[in-house]
Amino acid sequence: MYCILRRKAVVSASHLADCAAMSDPSTFDKKQAVLKNVFGFPNFRPGQEAVVDALLSGKDVLAVMPTGSGKSLCYQIPALVLGGLTIVVSPLVALMQDQVSALQLTGVLAGTINSSRDRSDNIAVWRRAAAGELRLLYLSPERLMTDRMLGAITRLKVDLIVIDEVHCISQWGPAFRPEYEDLTRLKTLFPEVPIAALTATADEVTRSDIAARLFPKRPPRVFVAEFDRPNIHLSVEMRRDWKQQLMALVSTHADESGIVYCLSRRKTEETAAFLADQGVTALPYHAGMDGFERTANQNRFLTEKGVVIVATIAFGMGIDKPDVRFVFHIDIPGSLEAYYQEIGRAGRDGQSASASMLYGFDDIRMRRQFIEQEESTDERNRREHKRLDALIGYCEAATCRRRVLLAYFGDRIEKCGNCDVCQNPITLADGTTEAALALSAVVDTGELYGAAHIIDVLRGASTQKIARAGHQSIATYGQGADLGKEEWRTIIRQLVAANLLRLDIEGYGGLKLTDDGGALLRGEKTFSYRVYAVKPDRKRKP
Ligand code: ADP
Ligand code: ZN
Repeated sequence: MYCILRRKAVVSASHLADCAAMSDPSTFDKKQAVLKNVFGFPNFRPGQEAVVDALLSGKDVLAVMPTGSGKSLCYQIPALVLGGLTIVVSPLVALMQDQVSALQLTGVLAGTINSSRDRSDNIAVWRRAAAGELRLLYLSPERLMTDRMLGAITRLKVDLIVIDEVHCISQWGPAFRPEYEDLTRLKTLFPEVPIAALTATADEVTRSDIAARLFPKRPPRVFVAEFDRPNIHLSVEMRRDWKQQLMALVSTHADESGIVYCLSRRKTEETAAFLADQGVTALPYHAGMDGFERTANQNRFLTEKGVVIVATIAFGMGIDKPDVRFVFHIDIPGSLEAYYQEIGRAGRDGQSASASMLYGFDDIRMRRQFIEQEESTDERNRREHKRLDALIGYCEAATCRRRVLLAYFGDRIEKCGNCDVCQNPITLADGTTEAALALSAVVDTGELYGAAHIIDVLRGASTQKIARAGHQSIATYGQGADLGKEEWRTIIRQLVAANLLRLDIEGYGGLKLTDDGGALLRGEKTFSYRVYAVKPDRKRKP
């Protein structure tokens, strides 16, 4: 069976079959729990879940996913959910060691037996595997395929066999390894054990060759990750007047289904009421609602024409409505993984659809605060901040947005022609002088104030706050009066996005200089910024 993730209809049908075939109904909860509690990820990345489900339902799988897309999780999660032993064959001894160390750090019982380690270490790992103490055992193909090892393994409860870098098995592949050939015996030796064959590179000929060699009797489920959903138009706008911006999109989709995502339950209710006022059939959906009403709203969305559902992220799990024509984000989500998943609910029928998102300062501050508030390790927080950085990078993209989005998942394209940036190329302007002014104003006011006050200072406003702090006497006061408030907001936001300034989220949300910001002030760095086509509020004086 051959299925491409992009062809959603095909995936959904077989995917549903996999879900149904999972013997234990709580398997869904278990895989989600492992994803979150062991690996610390709130969402699957594109492509991962379908592979996990196929393996959990006992199918053989051949998955082709680009490097960096998160292949390892596709078998690590089943390994932990299944609970027996998973054998992972990999040709790269150094990488095996890395993987095992990373797993051990997260508390997963993993080990490796390979030629770079002491014999006594190898024996100790084997003893643990034999005693049922390991979930994952990494081996080189030569190690695994000895009669002694195979005999020993047959006596254990092996739940899953994984062959990483499986293209090495094919003469057609770019890196044929003779020792991989022997792995073709695995299916005969372990007919009951599902085999996951994974690679980042395999064209169609190579894929068929791999499938024929490893799975001579029954073809595997084939997943080729193509993350692109080219029919979804992508755009991001600065938040100015969200109601007006929302209506601008909704009115181009009269009588069509859409999803509007908000951060809070209250905003969900408010937005649904606002849309209803405008004559749109809009219904709220959030976790705080009465279950009966929530299900009723979801059913209306699924069955009636032209219903807009206004939801928190809770909405969408398992929703497979083909004709959702738009997804609108009033607030930014937590990561590009979440974003991809949410916009992926649009245009499943392959017809054109649009994904539009508003973005502003408050989003960055709020999201950073969320991360800090989580009871979590520093390491995990750092990772979450980096994830958020990637999303901000997407919002501020100066090249094709789809290119930025797909690059994050390991896929490459040049330009899509179906995003706001491709359609209205961004003008980048040199903003080094403006940046230096803004950074100086931040430093001279003691790195305590938020963007609004800094902008007042730069534009020479006479506010009470300025009078009280005596800021009319600092050198930068009034030096930026030739730019409008909105332009300064844009510049400062991009200074934050480019990590020249940061928001002090532990304190009161003031702006602080970063090391890179210091470098710019010393003349060691330049700064260019996106000039937005729409420039509201170009008043010269405050
Ligand atoms: P590959 O083997 O495909 O090259 P990896 O398995 O090494 O990719 O994963 C690449 C990166 O993606 C890793 O840093 C991993 O932590 C991250 N990653 C994997 N799955 C997820 C997920 N569901 N959410 C967020 N990050 C993920
Ligand atoms: Zn594009």
